[in-house]
Amino acid sequence: MTTSRQGMMARDRIVSAGEHLLMRLSTALAREARPDIVISTALDALVTEVGATTAGVFFLDEETRTSSLVYSVNYSEEMQRTLVGVSLDTPTMSNAALRTGEVQIIESRDTAPKSFGETRAIGERMGIQAGAAVPLLAGGKRLGVLVYGLAEPHRFSPEERALLGEVGNLIAAALDRARLEEALARRADEAELLHSIALAAAGEDDLSRILQAALDRLSSLLAFTGGSIAVVDDDALVIRAAMGPFARIARGQRLPRGQGRSWQVLRTGEPFLSNDLVADGLRSLSSDGELVIRSFLAAPLVWRGTAFGILQVDSLEPNAFRQSDVDLLQRVATLLSGPIELARRYAAEVQLRRDLGQAKGRLEAILDHAPMGIFFFDRHDRLAFANAVTFEKLNLYGPDELYLGRPWDELTGLLIERRWDADPDLLRHTVEQTRAMREGIQVSDLPLHSPEQHLLRIAAPVFESGEFSGHVILLIDVTSERQALTAAERAVVLRDRFISIASHELKTPLTSIKGTAQLALRSRSITPAPIERLWRHLETIDAQADRLRMLIDDLLDVSRMQAGRLDLRLERADLRSLVLTVVETLPDSERTRVRLAAPDAVPGYWDTLRLDQVIMNLLDNALKYSPRHSPIDVRIAAEDGCAVLAVTDCGIGIPHDELGELFAPFARASNASIHNESSLGLGLYITRQIVERHGGTIAVDSVEGQGSTFTIRLPTTT
Ligand code: ADP
Repeated sequence: MTTSRQGMMARDRIVSAGEHLLMRLSTALAREARPDIVISTALDALVTEVGATTAGVFFLDEETRTSSLVYSVNYSEEMQRTLVGVSLDTPTMSNAALRTGEVQIIESRDTAPKSFGETRAIGERMGIQAGAAVPLLAGGKRLGVLVYGLAEPHRFSPEERALLGEVGNLIAAALDRARLEEALARRADEAELLHSIALAAAGEDDLSRILQAALDRLSSLLAFTGGSIAVVDDDALVIRAAMGPFARIARGQRLPRGQGRSWQVLRTGEPFLSNDLVADGLRSLSSDGELVIRSFLAAPLVWRGTAFGILQVDSLEPNAFRQSDVDLLQRVATLLSGPIELARRYAAEVQLRRDLGQAKGRLEAILDHAPMGIFFFDRHDRLAFANAVTFEKLNLYGPDELYLGRPWDELTGLLIERRWDADPDLLRHTVEQTRAMREGIQVSDLPLHSPEQHLLRIAAPVFESGEFSGHVILLIDVTSERQALTAAERAVVLRDRFISIASHELKTPLTSIKGTAQLALRSRSITPAPIERLWRHLETIDAQADRLRMLIDDLLDVSRMQAGRLDLRLERADLRSLVLTVVETLPDSERTRVRLAAPDAVPGYWDTLRLDQVIMNLLDNALKYSPRHSPIDVRIAAEDGCAVLAVTDCGIGIPHDELGELFAPFARASNASIHNESSLGLGLYITRQIVERHGGTIAVDSVEGQGSTFTIRLPTTT
């Protein structure tokens, strides 16, 4: 076969292969809507139909005037890397095709023009002899260039060149359409994304959730490694939502004002894109294989002209984001700004409401636990608030709602109804006094007439911004203070009475001793001294001295008892014998009045001297406060493990309301003094102390004018 024949046959093959290629391409590309598939289909067809060894498609970036290899067949990885961002000025066949818009060919490496120098060098490295570069032009726009290489030198016929031109147009048209469709689809996705973000933002009031949802949705449209949304809070940008490998650490982080790219975006209010932080000198590559962010894209969140946060995405890959991504991010940021601002305000309001609620709860708890009634009538004289103590102190039972909101008059009526111990007119008057009050603080007793309860009322008008808004009233229970005051007043009265009685009581025997002694001395002048008379004087002196001693003993006992120094010397004794011994010491006239009812013996362990004192006191009182010859009944018994001694007289008795106080020191019943029986009022006090020290009790039963019974019960064992 001659060379020309061989050429003819080869040409025929190419042409028919080319026609076949055209047919295959036009049917395949007509259906394709994705640019990557359009290109890979074209490259596949080219390789199989034309027998190309290598094939690739470069895209042109008109802005940077560089082209980059985006799809290739049989290019080494290293080669693929070097063919990124190739300047339009580099001497290559592809650039010539791009510049001229014409198909460029190399039939044999050796004859390739100088202006294709770089292509020749690449061909050498890849073992390529011939090749073609077909510009991809659509609607006057240069999309890129398709190149393929052949292992052998090849002559390209004019038909072949024309065919390649057509193939180029076909691919460009399909690519353009696919890109357009992709852009449209992306637009649709974007619209859907923005719509879904808007929906999520509208239905959600938790700011962090809105932001997280927005980021999640954004990730379906934008390929990023990590993303975050930060919002200004005081003087820091706080990351409120984050995605990607650093999300967990990032969330909640605070970037103080002025630091880094984020604050720069806030300051400028402009989006920021670095497609290679390392190349831009904004980050260094770490040596220990740590993940390094290479691409960074951020857009400010702006509300009414003020940037208040940023939305940012990043990628570990360089050149991860395009201008369309910047636009998209900016649109998402704009869309989010309104809802974020609203959510921020809403969150602030919720927080405020929560704080207010807490403060109110705390205040109510304090008011409810205050040891006084606190209530408030508003400017319309309606009960607006009352704490628990108020209801309790005023006998207002039932649920609070029964009373809250009720007008003053109704409540005054209720109060008068429930406080049966109060004087209704006085109570109404006091309450009305408060209502009339518009200035100053009013302090008064609430006239409840109850001996058990004394309520102090402090009322004050309340003004809000200078306007009268009601009355606050405090009810303080001063019962115990009043009781203490009464007790103190009583103690003073008792003390004064004691001083006057004691001085009188001590003076009487002393006067008698003095008078008798003088009488005795005076009898010296009478000779011989009537010895009988002297004895009588001495007896009187002795008796009065005894009385004085007894009074002083009683006083000493009281002071000892009040100091808690009453010691008992317990010994085995018989109550009956003790009573009999005491009765024996009485003068004949009194002894005969005593009627004893007792069993044989009532034994027990007691301090006998002290019990003598008890028995003596009770007998002495019974004799003192009853008519001269009236009988005194003394009953002794053993009952329920106790020894009982009851002394009954039919004397003057004791007024009923004074019974409770008889056992206090210096206590004397009001009817006692009339009977001119002078005493200190210490006997019963001492008696009770002794009985109680023994673990026993003392009780009195008396009817004024009829008589009294004093009963003591003593345990028989210690
Ligand atoms: P006094 O020394 O005054 O009798 P007491 O403490 O023994 O002191 O008694 C206190 C008061 O109790 C007496 O002043 C008297 O008013 C009253 N009293 C005590 N015993 C009787 C009684 N048997 N009958 C009537 N009043 C009594």
